[in-house]
Amino acid sequence: MLATTFLQQADFLHVLYIVAFALFIYGLSGLTGPRTAVRGNRIAAVGMAIAVIATLLARGEGNWALIVIGVALGTAVGVPAARRVHMTAMPQMVALFNGVGGGAVFLIAWAEFRNTGGYLGEPTYFAVFSLFAAIIGSVSFWGSNIAFGKLQELLPGRPITLGRSQQLVNALVAAAAVACAVAIVAGSHSQLLFILMLIAAAVLGNLVVLPIGGADMPVVISLLNAFTGLSAAATGVALNNPALIVAGMIVGASGSILTNLMAVAMNRSIPAIIAGGFGGGGVVAGATGAGEHAGTVRSTTAADVAVQLAYARQVVIVPGYGMAVAQAQHAVRELAKALEARGVGVSYAIHPVAGRMPGHMNVLLAEADVPYEQLREMDDINPEFARTDVALVIGANDVTNPAAKTNPGSPIYGMPILDVEDANSVVVIKRSMNPGFAGIDNELYTRPNTAMLFGDAKTAVSELTAELANI
Ligand code: NAP
Repeated sequence: MLATTFLQQADFLHVLYIVAFALFIYGLSGLTGPRTAVRGNRIAAVGMAIAVIATLLARGEGNWALIVIGVALGTAVGVPAARRVHMTAMPQMVALFNGVGGGAVFLIAWAEFRNTGGYLGEPTYFAVFSLFAAIIGSVSFWGSNIAFGKLQELLPGRPITLGRSQQLVNALVAAAAVACAVAIVAGSHSQLLFILMLIAAAVLGNLVVLPIGGADMPVVISLLNAFTGLSAAATGVALNNPALIVAGMIVGASGSILTNLMAVAMNRSIPAIIAGGFGGGGVVAGATGAGEHAGTVRSTTAADVAVQLAYARQVVIVPGYGMAVAQAQHAVRELAKALEARGVGVSYAIHPVAGRMPGHMNVLLAEADVPYEQLREMDDINPEFARTDVALVIGANDVTNPAAKTNPGSPIYGMPILDVEDANSVVVIKRSMNPGFAGIDNELYTRPNTAMLFGDAKTAVSELTAELANI
């Protein structure tokens, strides 16, 4: 009995919460490098387990059967899903998990509204934070579900818009949600009003994400992630739960930083991404398709490229989205090993937004056991291209496009790129002259030092390794 009372004392619970969020922060610092990432993740998970135990102790009574069923259901769905997911499906998995977080936040806010009879006798700040959490949590839940649907191709990836009236309708729906919240803070205890507010926020979540093209989804998911974090922090303030405040703010801050980094690396402003209409998988106006390139494109063979590679001193591999699609990372590693066995120096140039999610290339190459020291970040590798014999571009397109530096009219103008054109020779492996994500031609392909090796990345790279063995 004494032990139970001690375990439920507010001071003891606060100590547990402090330990929990200290572990979140320590764990997060481990995520800055691949060597410490797994450990960091485990440390943060221990922190979360401590926070959950503290919360269950604090509640004292409560429906234990329901809690156990909830935990069992969550484990049964979450663990196999996380184990089985393919790396290429990670963005939609994150969207789904993020949506669940937002959903939990708005349901908790609803439960608090009911438990307190519409905030009867509660301080104003409690109502304000709880309603903020409900609106943002609901936007995040519905927005994340749409993001998941688009990435999973359950919904069309192209932008679905209301045309010119889109922003006006969004503003009206947002105003309706806020008006309901204001009426509740002002003293209305009507549950109908609360439900109307949730519905308006739900419509807003759908309206905001539907106009955004499928390929912009990783940025949107990161933004929604920041929203979920903020709404969880607001719930923490309302429930007086310090661990939830800290965890929510960490998610909110890191989500905002990541969103900004991705937007900067793509040279797009966050409002422009939210305004939508880009990245629907189609080709934007002004782009040309196969064979319409201005200038001559030189095509080469695996045998010729293998000779160049065999006699090179330094080869820089530039992976992109096509390597992920072809799942060519293991074949790439085999080719690199064969080159290294001949004394050729091999490194990998990693652009911050190559592929379709942050760290996409790092994850794929780590899966193929590429030594981490060989992965070089853009700013670090760019000066090296001038000393590189062969830049081998594998399924990368936009991240190598010189138009980002030379053509002010280009949609990617200003985006930092990998300076592959500075290499002595550039070999580009892709299947056709089709554009990449930005839907624009790549003038790199018509440069005199560039040759195209047309084909699927995995097949082409395997052919190179086979040809190399004959030299
Ligand atoms: P990209 O510009 O989208 O180009 C990928 C190229 O891969 C395509 O041109 C395609 O040409 C080729 N490809 C596709 N399947 C292939 C296969 N099986 N074998 C060989 N090639 C294949 O890719 P990127 O250079 O990696 O640039 C990423 C783009 O995505 C950037 O514009 C970035 O802003 C955007 N983006 C990135 C993120 C992120 O977080 N990383 C998020 C959102 C958007 P073919 O069809 O001719 O083969």
